[in-house]
Amino acid sequence: MTIPPDAEARRAVKPVICYPNETLPMPDLALYAAALEGAKVTGTVIAPPREAGVFEVPAGHFFRIRSVEGPQVGDLNLWNAQDISERFYSGKTRALHGTHVTTGERLWSSFPNLRPMATIVEDSLGWYGIDQYGGSVHDVIGTRCDPYTGNLLAGSQYHHCCHSNLTRALAQHLGVSAEAAEPHVHDVLNVFMCTGFTRDTGQYFMKASPVRPGDHLTFFAEIDLLGALSACPGGDCSSEHSSDEAACYPMEIEILAPEPGALDGWQSPQRSGYDRSHGL
Ligand SMILES: [Zn+2]
Repeated sequence: MTIPPDAEARRAVKPVICYPNETLPMPDLALYAAALEGAKVTGTVIAPPREAGVFEVPAGHFFRIRSVEGPQVGDLNLWNAQDISERFYSGKTRALHGTHVTTGERLWSSFPNLRPMATIVEDSLGWYGIDQYGGSVHDVIGTRCDPYTGNLLAGSQYHHCCHSNLTRALAQHLGVSAEAAEPHVHDVLNVFMCTGFTRDTGQYFMKASPVRPGDHLTFFAEIDLLGALSACPGGDCSSEHSSDEAACYPMEIEILAPEPGALDGWQSPQRSGYDRSHGL
């Protein structure tokens, strides 16, 4: 390998933001906050340790994921409740908002829809920011812990990774086989998980989540949602995942309905306006 004489100058080129997001349609956060203030809890679902909980949220309602008994991270999947081929698109959410999401940012759906599925309206860990290691909370960079990678790296047969927890929960909810449910499981929002990339080797890292019981992340459902949350076998992800070693705790999901009229003026977002001809 020959290092070119202008190597330093090439490295010194300033980065350009790939997707300047000033033209993204902005959520009316003040309207959502006012609606949340008067909202009443209509249902509660528990994701037991190393299992997933399934929940439905009508468009215009809220859902709140809460840490209850101890520090625990959760892997979240979201689908359009009427058409599960429309699902959360972690990669595009990352491209639009960054590696970690917080209040005011949105979870976007897969092509050909590309519309906000949910908007984050409260984040009790919003104070964390980016730590000295480059770590932050609620990432859209991890995929979800899964038995295939465990098998690849360690030859294991472990059935309580988030991928399998989500697959089982979705299969039971839809009344279909694991084989039928599995292709609908997708890359997640890692709720409460603290992650980043090492500066020296660029490797994905995790560290003990700063979450404590009472912490919560609250979303506004922009469309009718089916959700599944897995309480990760990694617990707070301070040491390892893909095994039964870590201390694990349940997570709570509350569904909240706003007062009638509280969202006057709000409309559920339309699917992408692209004509889908692809130049043919
Ligand atoms: Zn996991």
